[in-house]
Amino acid sequence: MKKLISLVIVILFVVSCSTVPITGRKRINIVSDAQILPASFEQYAGFLKEHKISTNAKMTSEIQNVGINISRAVDKFMRANGMVSEANNYRWEFNLIDDKTVNAWCMPGGKVVFYSGILPICDNTDGIAAVMGHEVAHAFAKHGQERMTSAYGQQLGGIAVAVGTGNKDPRTQQLWNTIYGIGSTVGMLAYSRTHETEADKLGMVFMIMAGYKPEESINVWIRMSERAEGNSPPEFLSTHPSNQTRINNLKRYMPTAIAMAKKYNAQ
Ligand SMILES: [Zn+2]
Repeated sequence: MKKLISLVIVILFVVSCSTVPITGRKRINIVSDAQILPASFEQYAGFLKEHKISTNAKMTSEIQNVGINISRAVDKFMRANGMVSEANNYRWEFNLIDDKTVNAWCMPGGKVVFYSGILPICDNTDGIAAVMGHEVAHAFAKHGQERMTSAYGQQLGGIAVAVGTGNKDPRTQQLWNTIYGIGSTVGMLAYSRTHETEADKLGMVFMIMAGYKPEESINVWIRMSERAEGNSPPEFLSTHPSNQTRINNLKRYMPTAIAMAKKYNAQ
């Protein structure tokens, strides 16, 4: 019996092993789009119902414009690189909510929320594009599903709970809060160092493809550090990678990102 279980686990790993596009990192993800998307769309609708949508028309339209431009870049990449059915599954949506938390996230299938508290860190349109690119990149690379696949996700209640829809099980909510940062009041969700670095890289490629200045992604993290100096360190600062490492990595990656964006835009 033990042998059989081991065999099943090995088979599951082999069939669920895939590669993150652009970075080429190998990942294990057993959560399919068909499983996660209905739950994601339901979580998003529920979140919007329970939170205050911003009445700031100017900032809302700015977030939406940047979101549309970044999503077009991602869509273009997917359609040119064998991901047509995945691209068809996206239901892009961008909302700004009135909440002073420094936060933004993107749920599977392109459901984005910006909190008004992150706008001073973004500071300008290119800064919004840097944060947008980064958050969309987490969803594009399916980092949440990868976490769900890991033992950590399973300990929290399992994939079955996470992808269940139509129930008000508090475990479902807790799992989504933990995995995707939905409803977090402490600020931007810190993924692992690997996921954060990957989202920084992918986000930079997408923002350049969409016509924004990649230098601003560095300024976003400088502003994030400055903000932290005056306050008690928010959760995202106590985790890897440190802001300085991140800034150095972004600077180092910029020429590669520019070359890749050029190549993908020409496809
Ligand atoms: Zn992140």
